[in-house]
Amino acid sequence: MEAPVKKNQIYDVVFEDLTHEGAGVAKISGFPLFVPNALPGEQGTVKVVKVKKGYGYGRLMELTKTSPDRTEAPCPIYKQCGGCQLQHLSYEGQLRHKQKVVKEALARIGKVDVTKTTIHPTIGMSDPWNYRNKAQVPVGEREGGLIAGFFQKRTHEIIDMERCLIQQSENDQIVQAVKAICRRYGIRAYDEQAHKGWLRHIVVRYGEMTKQAMVVFITRTADFPHKKRILAEITAKFPSVQSIVQNINPKRTNVIFGDETKVLWGSEYIYDCIGSIQFAISARSFYQINPVQTKVLYDKALEYANLTGEETVIDAYCGIGTISLFFAQKAKKVYGVEIVPDAIEDAKRNAKLNGIENVEFAVGEAETLIPKWHQQGIKADIIVVDPPRKGCGESLLQTIIAMKPKKVVYVSCNPATLARDIAILEQGGYETKEVQPVDMFPHTMHVECCALLMRIEE
Ligand code: SAH
Repeated sequence: MEAPVKKNQIYDVVFEDLTHEGAGVAKISGFPLFVPNALPGEQGTVKVVKVKKGYGYGRLMELTKTSPDRTEAPCPIYKQCGGCQLQHLSYEGQLRHKQKVVKEALARIGKVDVTKTTIHPTIGMSDPWNYRNKAQVPVGEREGGLIAGFFQKRTHEIIDMERCLIQQSENDQIVQAVKAICRRYGIRAYDEQAHKGWLRHIVVRYGEMTKQAMVVFITRTADFPHKKRILAEITAKFPSVQSIVQNINPKRTNVIFGDETKVLWGSEYIYDCIGSIQFAISARSFYQINPVQTKVLYDKALEYANLTGEETVIDAYCGIGTISLFFAQKAKKVYGVEIVPDAIEDAKRNAKLNGIENVEFAVGEAETLIPKWHQQGIKADIIVVDPPRKGCGESLLQTIIAMKPKKVVYVSCNPATLARDIAILEQGGYETKEVQPVDMFPHTMHVECCALLMRIEE
């Protein structure tokens, strides 16, 4: 079929929908055009910028009718940055949109009967700003001076940034100060093209509950010009800084961290809490970006599990053991499985730090290790999964079906793979009771949710 639109032509359109990536959808003779920054119900003119097989992309030229959900994006760099996709949609509108994304994925991909499964309204944040606890800013130079900020959308050009509105303001203040101090000492930024220069990234991590901060210098080489003075200035200015670390990345790569990390000042770790559980965070350890909403999400998982203290729980894709430790307080025994050895080291350290003894952590692929446990006769009353975006391995889902836990609590960061996996579990004898979307990343397209599946009595 010939596309009914042509590149560079201008069309009058009505926007009907919003993709899960936050682009408006308009149809021209049934042919979908994806247009950033447009909302359902809006009308306007669009210039076609790309035509693909079956769909195209457009650029919004003018809006002739605006949505009541439209709001002025408060961030001045919103359009250049691309880190957020939904700032032009009111927060209420974002929460409704995220619920709809989950509902549609479950109905379309999961073939879930959404009249029987309750898909709750998204739980949002009371203050959906200043939530990120980790700033990771690339460093560059402009007219000889150090700059640090973000890569302009779809480019490798660094734009200087003073403030990121979804970032904890403490992080931004520290980044600004470190940048200014380094500039004063004539520190050279890493130059990607020439593979020369020194400072590649400034990373700041912040424990919101403990008010402890860590500064990481990611550098091309192991030296550190003006080290004593730079560290002294940072620690004098920010009593919250408990740890300053250097990570060396000598490679030509987009990967931020290198293999070698050394502590320059203070402790190797900072600490933070989610609920009553403490976590040790090192420069490279994984830690949830929004601990406030993580607690909301995992509290929901705990509520769905409804533990009495007698249960054996398996936590697949356990990371640093956040869910395992949450559940261990209420279960008889928890087994956590995770593929990254460092994360399991952290999980074990965190268990010890909190005096939790009824957990065991193992390194391995969930889809390989759990089938082995099943063969060895290990039984589970509840299986929790929290997989990466690609969802659960098929052999894990088949093992869950064979192990017949009473409940599966599925924590997901991708409604599409959640829906795909739910369809398999439903075929294997489970029913999806409830799904709770939780907004972990306000103003971005990301949607997290927690689903409760129960085994149907035979
Ligand atoms: N609940 C965890 C985060 C889960 S994120 C926490 O709070 O720490 C998903 C995790 O799955 C990541 O830690 C990732 O390393 C791990 N992972 C990815 N593929 C895996 C696999 N095949 N088997 C086990 N773990 C895996």
